[in-house]
Amino acid sequence: MGKPARKGYDCKRLLKNNWLLLSTVAAVVLGVAALDTNVSGKIGLRAIVYYFCTTVLAAILGIVLVVSIKPGVTQNMDEIDRTGSSSEVTTVDTMLDLIRNMFPENLVQACFQQYKTKREEVNPSIEPEMNTTEASVTVVTTTAISKNETKEYKVVGMYSDSTNILGLIVFCLVFGLVIGKMGEKGQILVDFFNALSEATMKIVQIIMCYMPLGILFLIAGKIIEVEDWELFRKLGLYMVTVLSGLAIHSLIVLPLIYFIIVRKNPFRFIMGMAQALLTALMISSSSATLPITLQCAEEKNHIDKRITRFMLPIGATINMDGGAVYEAVAAVFIAQLNNLDLDIGQIITISIMATAASIGAAGVPQAGLVTMVMVLSAVGLPAEDVTLVIAVDWFLDRFRTVVNVLGDAFGTGIVEKLSKKELEQMDVSSEVNIMNPF
Ligand code: ASP
Repeated sequence: MGKPARKGYDCKRLLKNNWLLLSTVAAVVLGVAALDTNVSGKIGLRAIVYYFCTTVLAAILGIVLVVSIKPGVTQNMDEIDRTGSSSEVTTVDTMLDLIRNMFPENLVQACFQQYKTKREEVNPSIEPEMNTTEASVTVVTTTAISKNETKEYKVVGMYSDSTNILGLIVFCLVFGLVIGKMGEKGQILVDFFNALSEATMKIVQIIMCYMPLGILFLIAGKIIEVEDWELFRKLGLYMVTVLSGLAIHSLIVLPLIYFIIVRKNPFRFIMGMAQALLTALMISSSSATLPITLQCAEEKNHIDKRITRFMLPIGATINMDGGAVYEAVAAVFIAQLNNLDLDIGQIITISIMATAASIGAAGVPQAGLVTMVMVLSAVGLPAEDVTLVIAVDWFLDRFRTVVNVLGDAFGTGIVEKLSKKELEQMDVSSEVNIMNPF
């Protein structure tokens, strides 16, 4: 079974357009710009550490589950046609590419191209690949393959036609932090990104409205292509994998961290957030759920307002634990569907990209799907295959939004506990100011 021809409705083109990129950029810049304005720097730092650690944990959990459950692997081994070649790149190549892409030489170029190393067999008859621009000097190496045979490879640095999402996110994080610290002067930029975010979100929502029609045709095409129901078994298993990851993260990992740090019953905390979680389940948007998340955290779980009002709006934009589980599982699932053997370097790349993509996803319905296309392109997987996971995304999106909201909420409880001293100091200094306003 060769690689099926990809015809008709080109979802990659639809998803990978500038609006989506702009909405990601605006969401990250805004989320980070809000950091550290009213609250002490230490509290801001704790919030960032919490967001980062729990998101990475979520991505790792997703990878572990999808690698063990193998939802995209064909059961009948005879059918396997290994189209991928792990000898194309080494783990070191992949890791170095990751670092190079984190700090792009040219930001505009990063919107359209990313750096990719390839190992090509030295063979003058092979045509150079389309859509790539050679970027660096080639080094010729010789690799022994078997006892008598050796093959020569050259290591080629290329720019491939896919967005360097990692580079853009790193830039947006730094840019957001800087304009957040500029105070009044930076406000004009914050307002600009606010307006940009709202406008691009509206456009993304319009795109999402007409997407089901295209997906219907794509799925119909897939059904005709596969001729058996193997694909549906895989899709079912994929859903089970994502849902298991979300359940483990929200019912074991996060409660355990909360219990270790706060020493209170995490399940009572979850019950306190019930109304917000239910809303998230119904409307699939952490941003739209925000007012209820604030209300539950403050009124039911009695978290200090200075923490909730600072952390929850930022969390709704950049802290997506559910998104990280989903991005990691979906990317590896698509690799499995394509019979690609991922080496450890590629798996680490997917974890990092899944973390970055979850930060980049806005808190609106199916935003994770958009950044998912970027993860696939970044690790060289066929972005068109995202159509398969789109079919079930309306359902999974609801559950990952619940986990996104819960992750934000647990964060407020944990950071509040760790910041008791700073909060007390703030109380004392505001009392002094009231008594002696001059
Ligand atoms: N719908 C999710 C949220 O609002 C984002 C996503 O698609 O992962 O949190």
